[in-house]
Amino acid sequence: MPTPKWTLTVADVVAETADAATIVFDPPDTGDCAYRPGQFLTLRVPSDQTGAVARCYSLCSSPATDKRLAVTVKRTAEGYASNWLCDNVRVGDRIDCLPPSGVFTPADLHTDLLLIAGGSGITPMLSITKTVLARGRGHVVLLYANRDPEAVIFAAALRDLVNDHPDRLTVIHWLEAVQGLPNDQTLARLLAPYAGHDVFICGPSLFMRSARSAVESFGVPRSRIHIENFVSLSGDPFVDKPVDVDQVPPAAADKPQQTAEVVVQLNGDTHTLTWTRKDTLIDLLIAQGIEAPYSCREGDCGTCQCMLLDGEVDMDTHGALDEEDIAEGVVLGCQARPASDHITVEF
Ligand SMILES: Cc1cc2nc3c(=O)[nH]c(=O)nc-3n(C[C@H](O)[C@H](O)[C@H](O)COP(=O)(O)OP(=O)(O)OC[C@H]3O[C@@H](n4cnc5c(N)ncnc54)[C@H](O)[C@@H]3O)c2cc1C
Repeated sequence: MPTPKWTLTVADVVAETADAATIVFDPPDTGDCAYRPGQFLTLRVPSDQTGAVARCYSLCSSPATDKRLAVTVKRTAEGYASNWLCDNVRVGDRIDCLPPSGVFTPADLHTDLLLIAGGSGITPMLSITKTVLARGRGHVVLLYANRDPEAVIFAAALRDLVNDHPDRLTVIHWLEAVQGLPNDQTLARLLAPYAGHDVFICGPSLFMRSARSAVESFGVPRSRIHIENFVSLSGDPFVDKPVDVDQVPPAAADKPQQTAEVVVQLNGDTHTLTWTRKDTLIDLLIAQGIEAPYSCREGDCGTCQCMLLDGEVDMDTHGALDEEDIAEGVVLGCQARPASDHITVEF
């Protein structure tokens, strides 16, 4: 089954700051552009050197309040795609992308949320905030860290949202030029009153590490902490991969039995499948026509994360996972191949 693709028309380009621009798209021709707040598009960015590169950009638009789709791209120093997009995209351009994807999204819109964003990490948070305020009953506290006032993306939009929802939205700006770099202790002191909220963290890696330590220090359990890593994809998800690969990976080659039984719990359904050792879990689910979450299929984006409840898998790369994730049994469906005869996973 080929990966579905969209071609979107650029409806507007808005300069947000000196180094960030929002690209607004008309909805796809099919008209079906359902997405959840916090999800991202994967854009295909042309390149003279390689033909194209693929990069993910979180939707800053809200499915509740915006007719059009929008992403905001911040220039990365020495980066390729972000600079290309900021320099070249014009109204009327057509850009290939993969449909919205990702699991950095609240389970429901009525839960109180603590959103911790640094720099361009604000993009999924704006979508989540707008959607919760429009469709849910939850309270939102947003801590938003930036270098200085000029670097703050969406300053006016956030001000308007606070004015419209003063009882449900609190925005705390952290400016490094004024307050210095935030660390575990300063963040913990500031955010401890919100220990009962579900936490979403996105920003530069050091900032995310401090934010995570801070919320863990006042007892937020791992299951209520959601993290989005803004990494560049290394592969090209626009090229369909054959499901039936010829090469059996070395780890699987040693195993005498060539198939395993896997029980997959997904969206309230339970599927019992025969899993060939040379295929990844996502290869298997795609081949079976089962709609599992995935995007890059390189281990980079973390969309296909699931929990290993029973059995063992081998992973080609641990990509988006950290040691704690792995110790807790989180696996990447696009990297996992069977290493025992019976396996149970839950998405
Ligand atoms: C889920 C997710 C959501 C994200 N959301 C956002 C967002 O909302 N906003 C945002 O700004 N970022 C976001 N990102 C980050 C974004 O995807 C990119 O990682 C970021 O823009 C940096 O990409 P870059 O190509 O500019 O930089 P780099 O990836 O650092 O560019 C360097 C890379 O490009 C290659 N390269 C250099 N020149 C060329 C060339 N001519 N042709 C081909 N390759 C070349 C180099 O070999 C090197 O690998 C998100 C990432 C993820 C995973």
